[in-house]
Amino acid sequence: MSRTALRICPLCEATCGLTLTIDDGRVTGARGDRDDVFSKGFICPKGAAFGAVDSDPDRLRAPLVRVDGELREATWAEAFDAVAAGTRPVVERHGPHAVGLVLGNPNVHTVAGALYPPVLIAGLGTRSLFTASTVDQMPKHVAGGLLFGDANAIPVPDLDRTDHLLLIGANPLESNGSLCTAPDFPGRLKALKARGGTLTVIDPRRTRTARLADRHLAVRPGTDALLLAALAHTLFDEGLADPGELAPHLTGLDELAAALHDFTPEAVAPACDVDAATLRTLARELAAAPTAAVYARIGSCTVPHGTLASWLVDVLNILTGNLDRPGGALFPQAATDRTPRPAGPGRGFALGRWHSRVSRHPEAKGELPLSALAEEIDTATDDGEPIRALIAVAANPVLSAPDGDRLDKALGSLDFMVSVDPYLNETSRHADVVLPPPPPAQSPHHDFAFNTLAVRNQVRYTRPAVPLEPGRMAETEILARLVLAATGMHGADPGAVDAMVIGQTLAKAVREPHSPVHGRDPEELAALLTGDNGPERRLDMMLRLGPYGDGFGADPDGLTLEKLLAHPHGIDLGPLRPRLPQPLKTRSGKVELLPEPIAADLPRLRAALGERPAGLVLVGRRHLRSNNSWMHNVPALTGGSNRCTLHLHPEDAARLGVRDGQPVRIKGAGGEVTAPAEVTDGVRPGVVSLPHGWGHDRPGTRMRHAAADPGANVNQLLDGSLLDPLSGNAVLNGVPVEVAPLTATVTKTFGALT
Ligand code: SF4
Repeated sequence: MSRTALRICPLCEATCGLTLTIDDGRVTGARGDRDDVFSKGFICPKGAAFGAVDSDPDRLRAPLVRVDGELREATWAEAFDAVAAGTRPVVERHGPHAVGLVLGNPNVHTVAGALYPPVLIAGLGTRSLFTASTVDQMPKHVAGGLLFGDANAIPVPDLDRTDHLLLIGANPLESNGSLCTAPDFPGRLKALKARGGTLTVIDPRRTRTARLADRHLAVRPGTDALLLAALAHTLFDEGLADPGELAPHLTGLDELAAALHDFTPEAVAPACDVDAATLRTLARELAAAPTAAVYARIGSCTVPHGTLASWLVDVLNILTGNLDRPGGALFPQAATDRTPRPAGPGRGFALGRWHSRVSRHPEAKGELPLSALAEEIDTATDDGEPIRALIAVAANPVLSAPDGDRLDKALGSLDFMVSVDPYLNETSRHADVVLPPPPPAQSPHHDFAFNTLAVRNQVRYTRPAVPLEPGRMAETEILARLVLAATGMHGADPGAVDAMVIGQTLAKAVREPHSPVHGRDPEELAALLTGDNGPERRLDMMLRLGPYGDGFGADPDGLTLEKLLAHPHGIDLGPLRPRLPQPLKTRSGKVELLPEPIAADLPRLRAALGERPAGLVLVGRRHLRSNNSWMHNVPALTGGSNRCTLHLHPEDAARLGVRDGQPVRIKGAGGEVTAPAEVTDGVRPGVVSLPHGWGHDRPGTRMRHAAADPGANVNQLLDGSLLDPLSGNAVLNGVPVEVAPLTATVTKTFGALT
């Protein structure tokens, strides 16, 4: 029997509402939900392939447990017994930091990934935490932490109202947006142009987004911070710096001007390869626009000065008076945000509260760099125990972290490893236990993370579109049981995890004078929660305590889970609104424009004024039908232009003697890979581009389609030593490489590609 069900798409950050067609319990179609309050019917090719992603035959259907060296299907009880038996002795013998935890990017796309990892981290007490953030956006967190006192305070561009949008290192026509949740990002850019606005794109590649722009500056990779510093310098130099109504909330404006003194457009231009007059013009246009927003993404984060670039993005929005005003960049207010506390000084943001054991990298936001994971496993020091057991949740660092070969070997040396993963992939193949979550249609969905980054305040929740198949376990239950097994409570009721979180949260809320439940009885409040299960009761609690919540009866018109369920297409909560100074948690209670760690890092940026790479440098790229390593096993999303080729400019190709389609060897500090060349003037001379998330050619995996066209693992070109020192973020762009055509003998193996 055919029916439809609503489901928020989890396949990228845009969070579109989908209407799924379901036949006999299987998703057979997906279209955009026209009534969705946020996405209004938008869908992209990934969303349209939801059914194929959901029903991939290579998804694991039962847990795997290693017996006599081989992974074999097991019962859930056997699997969790093995997790407890594998992790607890490591904690007891070697201490909590000997258990590492790796959280992959899909965690932010699931309800379970939002609700349980924090409990697992706290329960384990480990400092060996690694996530995808340090190969992606950690510089944004550190910049937000230092400027605003809150690592999760990330302003987003007000796409629908701005007059001038400056995009740096972002390609939303392919990615559909990142740290800026906006269904139909392409349509919103076209609307900006249609209303007479200006789009400027800074990117070493002439991307599809760049082709839409009024002005495209093909900057030299890795020099974004210099370019942004020159824009900020110009604003001061020409008397254009005018924070307007922000002024009472700022501290350090004069010190900032002095710190940027050396970064004149003339000094910066040779390094960026963008002429000084253009930089001055751009700064003047930003200052003159009725409203403007500067937005930078992965290309500006995964570089040696990623935190400085992220800081300067916010600085520019502040100096032009565009932070926290409509049409500029604002702080979203999600429905599950904590109850807003009164404005005033906070605890501030600290970096380096502990360090990695081997290379002494400082922690940031409680995390160590993913680049350091391999050495934290395979290198003994006098300073504490190496990691001996690893818990990987939705993580494939063998492909996503620098030097996958070293990590691949290191994972093989662990005493114990557990992976929560739907696939037997390049990382989970090392696990002693693999716990497969159900396909996405069998899970509920709410975007805890992405609603805090959305260009419009709204709230949506979808229950599972189809019931759990026999033998499946809900992802929330898998993670709750993992928490119990790894923290010494194996065998307890998984509902105890949710009950504990609810009890602790409500006990804290009733003590907070600004809470709507101040002074009430936590047990009485817990009894009021609704929902079919623990995760739903937690969502209900967060909604009711949140900024739009009913406060457990204090505001009868406020949000509850029941009210949300009565609005299956979501509830619109209005456009972004100015919020300062409430979100500030700095010790001063103000925006601290020149924090000490930033000031201390500026000499390194000054030194970069004289740097000019002599050879080729590598950048990544994104494809509309791909998202990291997730979807390479889905035939509908691979092939065509979504292939792992090396883009290089015709001038470089001619100089190197490389023909279009010819296999080339690419060599970096960490190793070498081969890929077919794609000669295109879509990259600037001196730059080559290879997408990431490929390299599905290791033995022991079960991803048949991906293995048939494996591509090359770009991260093998890195040795893990290049980091942004403030954030620990890996440097993935602007990396020096050598490229050479393969010899005729080797070329034969690539016959199909030539
Ligand atoms: S844009 Fe993203 S959220 Fe929307 S349908 Fe495509 S993959 Fe899904």
